[in-house]
Amino acid sequence: MRILVVEDDPDLNRQLRETLSEAGYAVDTATDGEEGHFLGDTEPYDAIVLDVGLPEMDGVTVLEQWRKDGHTMPVLMLTARDRWSDKVSAIDAGADDYVTKPFHMEEVLARLRALIRRSAGIASSVIEIGPVALDAAKASVTMEGNSVKLTSLELRLLSYLMHHRGKVVSRTELIEHLYDQDFDRDSNTIEVFVGRLRKKLFPDLIETVRGMGYRV
Ligand code: CA
Repeated sequence: MRILVVEDDPDLNRQLRETLSEAGYAVDTATDGEEGHFLGDTEPYDAIVLDVGLPEMDGVTVLEQWRKDGHTMPVLMLTARDRWSDKVSAIDAGADDYVTKPFHMEEVLARLRALIRRSAGIASSVIEIGPVALDAAKASVTMEGNSVKLTSLELRLLSYLMHHRGKVVSRTELIEHLYDQDFDRDSNTIEVFVGRLRKKLFPDLIETVRGMGYRV
């Protein structure tokens, strides 16, 4: 799962990036509205955290542009506490949810998990497929009730596939959602991660669809 953070406050930008990375997401960041708009327009994100007050282009305008251009990714807006009108314009512009500054990082994480889940049409925070259960809130995986240790990239890959169960996901799509933009992307690594997940969980969990990709 790959997330974009658009926030001009350098401390908050860094905190969000660190918290989200620790939670297992690939994270890209932007510090003004123009750069943020460009990234959201050109890269496939699973969710975006977007500040309302931004230099170059304000958050509401950025969001309006994305929605006008047909981008439907979930967007969580960051709004100032005393500006109720910001919340109204954010929602009218197509925001899926908002948090009011100052906020606890835990709240941002919980709201993002819920947005990603909802956009995948999943009701519960635990996704079960056969004996495998993925708990998005705890970032943990169990197999027949026993906890399985996964690296953050293995977890990201499994999580993306489980959030898109039944759908064939191409290798390109996986690479785009697993790595941030600065990562040296090598499509062969996907094959390696799939192999490790099959070994750690069970072989039939991830099906290879010849010439197309993978399916859970
Ligand atoms: Ca700001």
